[in-house]
Amino acid sequence: MSAPNHPHPGPLPPAGEVDWTRVRDDFPLLKREVHGKPLVYLDSANTGQKPAAVIEATDDFYRRHNANVSRAVHTLGSEATDAYEGARRKLAAFLNVQRDDLVLCSGTTFAINLAAYSWALPRLKAGDTILITRMEHHANIVPWQLVAQRTGATIKVAELLPDGSLDLDALHAAMTADVKLLAIAHVSNVLGTVNPVAAICREARKRGIVTVVDGSQAAPHMAVDIPAIGCDFYAITGHKMCGATGTGALWARREHLQAMPPFIGGGEMIKEVRFDGTVFNDPPHKFEAGTPNIAGFIGLGAAVDYLSALGMDNVAAREGELLAHATEELRKVDGLRIFGEARHKAAVISFQVEGAHAHDLATLLDLEGVAVRSGQHCAHPLLHWFGVAATCRASLAFYNTHDEVDAFVAALRKVRRLLV
Ligand code: PMP
Repeated sequence: MSAPNHPHPGPLPPAGEVDWTRVRDDFPLLKREVHGKPLVYLDSANTGQKPAAVIEATDDFYRRHNANVSRAVHTLGSEATDAYEGARRKLAAFLNVQRDDLVLCSGTTFAINLAAYSWALPRLKAGDTILITRMEHHANIVPWQLVAQRTGATIKVAELLPDGSLDLDALHAAMTADVKLLAIAHVSNVLGTVNPVAAICREARKRGIVTVVDGSQAAPHMAVDIPAIGCDFYAITGHKMCGATGTGALWARREHLQAMPPFIGGGEMIKEVRFDGTVFNDPPHKFEAGTPNIAGFIGLGAAVDYLSALGMDNVAAREGELLAHATEELRKVDGLRIFGEARHKAAVISFQVEGAHAHDLATLLDLEGVAVRSGQHCAHPLLHWFGVAATCRASLAFYNTHDEVDAFVAALRKVRRLLV
């Protein structure tokens, strides 16, 4: 299989010395125009753009190596399997975990459902409590509601402080003896709040509470060291970290993976099938029935190479600068309210402009070439808590520029004049 394209081969560039203009050039889509204006893509929390290295790795797989994994002994079959398992190895190294503890799946939604159906469903019962937080994405709410309905367990919600950070005292107080599981976002997709998950998981563990961390919005933007977090489960989604849609993973402590029954059955996840009983494969394959998104994972492997070559600390520092710039400029816009101003925050800015509906703002911004998301961001309970029907959300990534921030704010001032 051809070597992945490293954008910046050699040792990691020291923080602050990455040539971000060159990095941006790696993203073909960012060169296009929308409505005759240069695209300003500020929707990376929704899905990230892909560098050429990822597109090329996927293309190369289909042009030269396409075959199914784990089945065929022929050359293409073993090339495909090696590349697919290579992606698992890269992703595991990226998260500082063992590759056999990493279940590859279609994304965070599947990953959390796997934890819910295979770990929680057989274990929880009436009288048990699942603790979640106000800021969760629906993917980290609804699977637990389904488990609660079927087991008789109840759901308890840890609330936020007005700045959009977790009320940690309340969270710790909520960790009562009936709580068996805590499901929590590492980073909020609406507020950008970065939760102190290592400290939270430590408290949970002291009380015997199993922790599920939704890392969808963390893994693309900061170095994630799962053992240092100390959770029981950690979910990621590939398409937000420069990879393909339909890729993701659930990391779990080995003892959980060994004890959990499979979630779905089929080929690949078995050692032997007889009509009087089936012997399942070892983890992680026990949880990976059917043909996976092979090309997508090979692309995700290239994405991990790409991000690793940039250095996640550099990515975080770059995005921190862009966030500070955007926040400062947005604060100067009349009638603009920002939702989520936690001290430790990722580059996500939800906002409203007094007198302008979020969808109207997003539609008019699109005509200026600026892509932001508007709506409820798959977080209805959070928006209800703020008492708003919708917000606009600008989410930045390392490939954005300070000029784009200025173009966005200028466009926002322009469309605001049309609406207010
Ligand atoms: N959790 C969070 C915090 C998210 O932002 C998202 C994606 N918007 C998800 C879960 C779901 O990810 P996916 O749809 O890729 O499974």
